[in-house]
This record gives sequence, structure tokens and C-alpha cells, in this order.
Amino acid sequence: MKRNNSRSAREAGIKRKYGFHNSKSLGQNFLTDDSVIDDIAAASKIGPEDLVIEIGPGMGVLTAAVADYAGRVVAIEVDKRLIPVLHETLADYDNIEIVNADIMKTDLNEIIEKYGIPGPEGKVRIVGNLPYYITTPILMMLLESRIPAETITIMMQKEVAERIMADPGSRTYGALTVAVSYYCVPSIVREVSKECFSPVPKVDSTVLRLDMRHEKPVTVKSESLLFETVKAGFGKRRKTMANAITGLRGLEKGMAASVLEKAGIDPKRRAETLSLEDFAALADAVYEAVTE
Ligand code: SAM
Repeated sequence: MKRNNSRSAREAGIKRKYGFHNSKSLGQNFLTDDSVIDDIAAASKIGPEDLVIEIGPGMGVLTAAVADYAGRVVAIEVDKRLIPVLHETLADYDNIEIVNADIMKTDLNEIIEKYGIPGPEGKVRIVGNLPYYITTPILMMLLESRIPAETITIMMQKEVAERIMADPGSRTYGALTVAVSYYCVPSIVREVSKECFSPVPKVDSTVLRLDMRHEKPVTVKSESLLFETVKAGFGKRRKTMANAITGLRGLEKGMAASVLEKAGIDPKRRAETLSLEDFAALADAVYEAVTE
């Protein structure tokens, strides 16, 4: 394996050779800052026995950096114009598989089965500089797909990262914060200026590492009802919780307040003040009320 040290300079030459123009609709803002690439790779906790799945390799700058740490890398890129480019930029690596597919239509458990975890102590790790237009759907798909991932290290628009890291009571706290905290422990790897991309996007970015939880922080009677309750709460953000959960699984208005009280929650509170534990207690109270 060999590392290309002037990645971004090489990128410009290859783009000219292939007559490649970035697609705005596919969120193709490519990384040009080597320190960001190195920091993502280093923060991903990748070891030689690990299988890394990269989402959206673009021209392969991050792919090469993670391949230096990993046993095997599977890079999934939707744009077929980039496949010959990737075969050229990553030609020196014998531990990278390039797959032309849409990540949202890819069965990641099948990918893991097909390519395998290289070592007995190896883990599955996800990395990616995510396309802005589809960050939250990709993240929710990763969390809900039950893939045995140990870490997910991803770059996203700064504002999305702020929502993930928000504390209860804050303006940015919402359904995404609660859902992510159910599945994993998020931490900030670094902030990234928009100047570190080509073309330069309108927004700054943040790299987060999500350490997947081996045990869930709350136990509930129905996981799907927990997420329905969270969605109902934040769907009517300005309303009191009593109003927000009226209609949830057919819950009548008169019952909403008593269900909340049973869960130890003041019916006048709003969703942004509820912790994951509060939502779990509420979901169980709703469960009891609607199945009785
Ligand atoms: N990793 C490269 C880098 O950091 O320079 C490229 C990152 S760019 C922000 C996002 C990449 O994801 C692009 O290469 C784009 O074509 C690809 N992409 C967009 N939508 C995708 C999807 N649904 N499935 C797989 N890749 C996708």
C-alpha cells in the first residue's frame, strides 16, 4: 500500500483528464485540505483487522487515508462517472473495493457478509464526508439498519451536527438529537471551514464520531412507539405535550393529560424540554393506555 501525499494536486490533474465536472445535485463538494482528511481517518479508530465502509468516496482522497489504517475498505459511490476515476486514484491499494451503488438502496449487512471483516478482532466502521442533501436520511438509515457498526465518523453541515449535539431545552434540540442519543454517543472530532472544499459550499461543516451503544440507554415496551412519540412531540413543537400526543395511536384528548401524568411529565411541558428518559416513560404510558 502506498500513500499519495499531494492528494488535492493530483485530483486537479485527474479531473482534467476525465473532463469531470462536479454534480451539485449529488452534493459533490470534495475535500481539498489534507489535515481534515488525516483528522477524519485518525479519529475513526480504524485498525488493521477492521472493515471500513465509506459513503461517497468522490475522487478517493478520504478512501486512501482510511485504507492506510484498515484491513479492508468498501467505498460506495453512486456517481458512475467517478468509478474509473477511483480505480485510477486508488490503483496502488490492494485493500479497497469500489462499489457503484446508491447508499440508500444498498443492503449494508449484505456488503459486510460479502466482503467480510478481515481479522478476528475486527470491527465494522463507517466513514464519510456526506452529501449535504441527504445527510439526515443516510444517518437515520445507518442507525436503524442494525448493522453491527462500532463507530460512524461522518462530516456533515455544521447545523445538523449542532442538532445532534444539542442539550434538552435548547433551540436546536429535536427528534434527531433524541434518536441519535438512543443509538450512540456522539462527539465532535473537529469543525471544518467551507474553504476546505472544492467547490466551496455555502455552509461550514463539522466532523462527528458516533460511538454505537452496545446497550440502549433506556428500555421500552415498543421501540417503534418510542420514535412515534418523539416524532409526535416535535411535530407540534410549539404545542404542549398534551396537545402534541393527542391522536397518537388514537389517544383521545382527555386521556393525553393523564397518560403524561402517569409518566411523571407535566402536560403543559413542550417536547424540547423532555429527555430521552422522559420520552421512554411517556412511550410506555401511551403503550399501556392504547393496549388496555
Ligand atoms: N469523500 C469525497 C471527499 O471527501 O472529497 C467526496 C465527498 S462529497 C461531499 C459526497 C460524495 O457522495 C460524492 O462523491 C457523491 O457523488 C456521493 N453521493 C451522493 N449521493 C450518494 C448516494 N446516495 N450514495 C452514494 N454516494 C453518494
